[in-house]
Amino acid sequence: MLTEEVFRTDSYLKECEATVVSVNDLGGIILDRTNFYPTGGGQPGDTGILRLEDGGEITIATTVKGKGDENVVHVPAEGQEAPATGTKVVAVIDWERRYKHMQMHTALHLMCNVVPAGVTGNQIGTEKSRMDFDMGDEKLDKDTISQAVNALIDADHPTKIDYITDEELDAQPEIIPTMSVAPPRGAGRVRLMKIGDIDLQPCGGTHVSRTGEIQHIRVTKIESKGKRNRRVSIAFVD
Ligand SMILES: [Zn+2]
Repeated sequence: MLTEEVFRTDSYLKECEATVVSVNDLGGIILDRTNFYPTGGGQPGDTGILRLEDGGEITIATTVKGKGDENVVHVPAEGQEAPATGTKVVAVIDWERRYKHMQMHTALHLMCNVVPAGVTGNQIGTEKSRMDFDMGDEKLDKDTISQAVNALIDADHPTKIDYITDEELDAQPEIIPTMSVAPPRGAGRVRLMKIGDIDLQPCGGTHVSRTGEIQHIRVTKIESKGKRNRRVSIAFVD
């Protein structure tokens, strides 16, 4: 049985009641439902705690995708007792950290709108993130990108999650996929992330609901990584 991924419908859910379904061979905790995002698409897995009914808590060091049906595995910090199957918990994410990931992640979508090139990779962090573009010889300017992204932030565009079928996606090849966060195909439907009318792409990650929530960013460096690949790094402006 797959864990219900509540973060996909509500990325703002800080706490979530859940039940322990199992603990795997590696000590990873599987819940029936969760608000913890597992590492994927360049976005780090959530940290936080599982609060127990007796007031105790289990610290979660990271969250990952496991094997087979284990779509979300909560990895406890070392030296903690494993919960029994059936234990009721309240899953509490480190919201401050996650909210920064949501802002950074959405800012990278905005950068896709600003930089007219295919994306070959990305990495999201709480303070710094980066995105790789397949650029060829075209020149990129740090200040131009920073200003354009911040203008899109200030425009306070709403974001929206939508679902389309694999067939509908095949009919719109132009949206496939500019970010490597594309969710796996074959489930019959694909999750689309839409920002106003400026960006539309398949994405399984967590985003803010309006771009105005994103702290302003600046491009800190642009590096050549290979012949055509340009790596654009951003940081939040204090
Ligand atoms: Zn996304």
